[in-house]
Amino acid sequence: MHPQFINKVETKRNSSMTANEIRDSFKKFFESKQHAIVPSAPMVIKDDPTLMFTNAGMNQWKDIILGTRDPEPRRRADTQKCLRVSGKHNDLEEVGHDTYHHTMFEMLGNWSFGDYFKEGAIDMAWEYLVDVLKLDPENLYVTVFEGSPEENIPRDDEAAKYWAKHVPEDHIINGNKHDNFWEMGDTGPCGPCSEIHVDSRTPEQRKASGKSGRDLVNQDDPQVIEIWNLVFMQFNRKADGSLEKLSMNVIDTGMGFERLVRMLQGKHSNYDTDVFQPIIKAEQQLTGLKYVTFEEEQMAPITKQQDDINVAMRVCADHLRAVSFSIADGQLPSNAKAGYVIRRILRRAVRYAYTFLGQKDGFLYKLVPTLVHEMGDAFPELKAQQQLISKVMKEEEDAFLRTLDKGISLLDKAMEQLKAEGKSELDGVQAFRLFDTYGFPLDLTELICRENGFTVNEEQFNVEMQKQKERARNAAAVENSDWVELAAGEQQFVGYDYTEYECHILRYRKVTQKKNEFYELVLDYTPFYGEMGGQVGDCGVICNEAETIEIIDSKRENNQTVHIVKQLPKDPSAQFMACVDTDKRDASAANHTATHLLDYALKQVLGDHVEQKGSFVSSDTLRFDFSHFQKVTDEEIRQVERMVNEMIREDIPLDEHREVPFEEAKKLGAIALFGEKYGDKVRVVRFGPSCEFCGGIHAKATGKIGFFKIISESSVAAGIRRIEARTGKECEELLYKTEDILKAIKGFFNNAKDLQATILKYIEEHDTMKKDIEQFQAQRVQALAQEIVAKGRIVNGIKVVTAKAPIAPDAAKDLVFKVRELCPENLVCVVGSVHNEKPMLNIMLSDDMVKDHGLNAGQLVREAAKLMQGGGGGQPHFASAGGKNTDGLSAAIDKVIELANL
Ligand code: ATP
Ligand code: MG
Repeated sequence: MHPQFINKVETKRNSSMTANEIRDSFKKFFESKQHAIVPSAPMVIKDDPTLMFTNAGMNQWKDIILGTRDPEPRRRADTQKCLRVSGKHNDLEEVGHDTYHHTMFEMLGNWSFGDYFKEGAIDMAWEYLVDVLKLDPENLYVTVFEGSPEENIPRDDEAAKYWAKHVPEDHIINGNKHDNFWEMGDTGPCGPCSEIHVDSRTPEQRKASGKSGRDLVNQDDPQVIEIWNLVFMQFNRKADGSLEKLSMNVIDTGMGFERLVRMLQGKHSNYDTDVFQPIIKAEQQLTGLKYVTFEEEQMAPITKQQDDINVAMRVCADHLRAVSFSIADGQLPSNAKAGYVIRRILRRAVRYAYTFLGQKDGFLYKLVPTLVHEMGDAFPELKAQQQLISKVMKEEEDAFLRTLDKGISLLDKAMEQLKAEGKSELDGVQAFRLFDTYGFPLDLTELICRENGFTVNEEQFNVEMQKQKERARNAAAVENSDWVELAAGEQQFVGYDYTEYECHILRYRKVTQKKNEFYELVLDYTPFYGEMGGQVGDCGVICNEAETIEIIDSKRENNQTVHIVKQLPKDPSAQFMACVDTDKRDASAANHTATHLLDYALKQVLGDHVEQKGSFVSSDTLRFDFSHFQKVTDEEIRQVERMVNEMIREDIPLDEHREVPFEEAKKLGAIALFGEKYGDKVRVVRFGPSCEFCGGIHAKATGKIGFFKIISESSVAAGIRRIEARTGKECEELLYKTEDILKAIKGFFNNAKDLQATILKYIEEHDTMKKDIEQFQAQRVQALAQEIVAKGRIVNGIKVVTAKAPIAPDAAKDLVFKVRELCPENLVCVVGSVHNEKPMLNIMLSDDMVKDHGLNAGQLVREAAKLMQGGGGGQPHFASAGGKNTDGLSAAIDKVIELANL
């Protein structure tokens, strides 16, 4: 036995720690190892075109790892909210069916940026798990990279050597490239990794399997699972696939918090821990159904039906967290990109609750209070936005349940058709359409079909799915070539103080997107603001005596401005002057400042619940989304406008503080946004009472805005309103346009002096005339009715009244009712009318004709209308039809009489 295991008796784990205590203990441990404890980055990523959601703790350190951001402090640790539902890491389909993959989970991590490396990372991980948390080392297995001869990378003997200090050889397992070599992407930092696995099988399970934990590592056994991955980044992969040494070694570790809690609490399913049990209890209460825990299941096997309930409860508990945290981070469900991913997660939960928990109405939103109660202390963003989360969730659930109903009735129809055709298989194209349009995943369609004795052509479905994936891939494909380095160094942004600056190109690369080619440049000094925080990027030029290159856009990537150009300069290493298009920049700066004033005014007028939920600022418009639960009234809009314009007239100067430590900025009263990523040092922008965390470009004083006018107020989603507004010159244009329209209207009314009174008079006159016409028409119809009744014939004691008249549809209808008033019994009346060159047929029968003579106006009109190329219907005693061919009208009237045998 390995010397470390000898004292096993003392290393009994402490199973009474709660999840919250475990989270704290992790932070405390790494704090004691000189790590800066940093906050979780938002789960929703807004400034990285390659990634929608944080899927690992390292995402927020990408720019440090790539060398574009200061690595100090070099030791950090945190718990990071992660979401693995798209792209490289997608666990969605597993979730609920197994008991250890979640969509959203917390990843505990510690980092070293050029500080300790493999030995430090391994020692600390071991100390924490075994000495501090007292996990039984006998149950722990570690993996090391076995090496790759074709890439000329040897086995990670170094890691194995350090592990050997703690565990015997038979607990160290070689792992392949798939499990034990981590890569950031197709290119970039990469390196071997070591995973720590825990064998959590019960004694009975061990006995029954007869295998050692070692044999089950990375074999998808639900009781032998990975809890911690230690990544040793030491290489950089280039676009041609070759590796070079990384300039700074990086330790990046990630441990699944929920899995750790489960091990410490002696459970065999993440869902049996106090992370999930409160939610599952709430689900049981709401549904009246029971959840069977792992322990209970060991005592008595469960039925298929109970297993479905278990899976559904796990799905709902998991997805509740993912959707709530996304909304809190500012990502609402929608029909595009990240919003669509969130919508799909929510729909998956609704579908399980609908099918297996019998929830035909919104269900998930009722669990929000429990979640907030459990996690609101560790994640205050949940608590602060509870109302918004519930509202958005309920509305989404309701909407999807309506779609679900529609989809189910479509599926019913499809199955009816199959039955009529004597078939037993639904084709895959239809199944795919249900999936694509109604959010019906294949398994739901299959389930419903199976219940009705049908199967689904899965192969065809997969073909359709593949086709769609390819379409999406082709649309999104972007190809980046390697950066061509011209000079070393980091970029300095000078755009807060300058709009022109001398510069050199540090590096450039070619990008190909949908056959479009352009180049990205990184300058050593740049006044260009790269698109960020809703404000568009600067345009302009870089130039010298030899040439001028247009910058068509600037983006923010990995903490620096990337300049987009159509062509490279002839001499890229020359010196340039970088010049921003100041007209555009000034206009967007003014709009940005206006959004700050707007935010402030909205909070004053509507209340403190107003939270910014998105903004877009360009040179010609500004858009601001915020939480508020009803329509903003016209009066409130006016109040807001007045307040903003007052602040503009005060010409309040920009009061800007750069590089303020985060906590100090908060003390200044600056407003931070939920779901926004802030560094240790932040910039604070103040205009009088408005004070915000902001990295954007602003007007030097509010007076530069000129004037502010809201042009629309609308709803974007449940609980979220959107205001669009214009400032300065755009307002001037708006005013001219309004003036022009008013002038034109005046022209219509002979340039009346008092336009309002004149229009009012016209409206009154119009109303009186309308009434007169109606009266006149009624009289005319009355007279016409008497006339045609008088002309009617009597056939077999039945009064037959037929007529053709050039009257409007309304009048024609009135006419037949009038005829019926005159002849309440033994009446068959057929009136054809023509209006605007369209024929119309109305049939009126007295009740005895329906009851005693078996006539039906609806049937008669359908037959007769064919003769005038039309169709219609109605009740047995009254029906009407429109048509296209006026020439057929007489024949249609005759046809009715003929069909009635008169
Ligand atoms: P697995 O093979 O179990 O899916 P992984 O190889 O995808 O794990 P990593 O990418 O190395 O895991 O992530 C680091 C740690 O995060 C894992 O050791 C695990 O504890 C945790 N983890 C990964 N995916 C999930 C998930 N979907 N739900 C909960 N925890 C997870
Ligand atoms: Mg995984």
